[in-house]
Amino acid sequence: MILGDRCTRACRFCAVATGRPEPPDPDETRRVAQTAQRLNLNYVVITSVTRDDLADGGADQFCRTISEVRSLCPKARVEVLIPDLNGSMRALQKICNGRPDMLNHNVEHGAPSVSASAPRGRLSPLPGGCWNLHFARVCR
Ligand code: SF4
Repeated sequence: MILGDRCTRACRFCAVATGRPEPPDPDETRRVAQTAQRLNLNYVVITSVTRDDLADGGADQFCRTISEVRSLCPKARVEVLIPDLNGSMRALQKICNGRPDMLNHNVEHGAPSVSASAPRGRLSPLPGGCWNLHFARVCR
């Protein structure tokens, strides 16, 4: 999991701490790649907390991590499991440009269950179905 250990959201079902995150650690990408190399992984999944505080939602850190993993683990396949990036098509396109082998995103649920699991104090920036449609279109 990249981009620190504090999330800017507070989903009720999640154990990740909520708070003001630190700026992205420029060395984090190298450490992730070195860990993957040390473990001799042939499939690497990169995910993150949600970073509503960053203009690109952390897209640049995703791309740099993909690149570092590719450099140290050339045979590994790389999947990214990304947050909703606040609905930013530009951020999503940036991650797509990093050419992960698999681009994944947790599918939002329907309206009846939103209030039970949505971040405390706010709902998702886009209705789930809307974001997921955008997502599918950009990633085709
Ligand atoms: S956005 Fe993701 S990491 Fe953050 S609290 Fe919700 S489920 Fe947890």
